[in-house]
Amino acid sequence: MRDHLVRGLGLGGRVRAVAAETTTVAQELRRIHEPTRTVTTALARLATGALLLAGSLEKVTGREPMLTLEVDGGGPAGRMFATASPAGWVRAFVANPGATAASTEDGRLDVGSVIGREGHLSVTRDPGNGRPYRGVVPLFTGEIAKDLAWYLTESEQSPAAVVLSVSVEHHGEVSAASGLLLQLLPGVSEEEARELTDRVHELGSLADAGGGPADWLEALFSDGFDDVESTAVEFRCGCSRERVLSALRLIGAREVGGVLRDAERGTPAVMTCEFCRTSYEVSIPELQMVLEEIVAARLRSSVN
Ligand SMILES: [Zn+2]
Repeated sequence: MRDHLVRGLGLGGRVRAVAAETTTVAQELRRIHEPTRTVTTALARLATGALLLAGSLEKVTGREPMLTLEVDGGGPAGRMFATASPAGWVRAFVANPGATAASTEDGRLDVGSVIGREGHLSVTRDPGNGRPYRGVVPLFTGEIAKDLAWYLTESEQSPAAVVLSVSVEHHGEVSAASGLLLQLLPGVSEEEARELTDRVHELGSLADAGGGPADWLEALFSDGFDDVESTAVEFRCGCSRERVLSALRLIGAREVGGVLRDAERGTPAVMTCEFCRTSYEVSIPELQMVLEEIVAARLRSSVN
């Protein structure tokens, strides 16, 4: 089935739930970044988590809202981040795709060790109005799902359960990826919360349970599920030559001057997008134009 996300309200509007199937997104992340099996699992979990949380962003006027998850746990994978929008696109980056860790005692891929547990998880909600909000919590498992639940419970005072499920074959191909987020709103009793948690555990690995996101939510909320909305989900980067040139304007006159001199000596200026690995060759006239713009902007600011 095509990747998609289903969201809605359970328990008469007292539980916000989002479920997503992200198998194709995970396969695309693997194709682009060529990570090890453990890093594939980590990246796919992070991207799925970003999509689940992005579903809770309110659309305001202005730019498209975006949500970014960043983990930096001091492990061999290095820094990782994923950016998603409520419209259903996601992209992700990892510093060291080739990182490995020994499997756990019960034979599972050890995501916690490859990410590390000595750092932090940050969540940046950018509603598109130029005033992003960033929250940070220390990592405690590095497995991502529990860290996200901890973040939502502690930092946003919204008790939550997060399940992120990624299956990677021995040869490295992703066979299934999915996720589930439940946020308890005011008015949920402790008993109801316990019952819901038990049912989530019964669902086990979402992918193995068969069906799609709507089936999982139906299994969780046997009394009905309201305000159901379904969104197609896909990997999309959104980079462009324009954005590459904008990024170049930020790195400073001296650096751009150096790149320009190299280009004039025959070493082409190539900028590679770290999210999708698309390479952009920047021509000598483009470099000259960027350099002139940086110098002109500096002159303007020194006159004012
Ligand atoms: Zn890109």
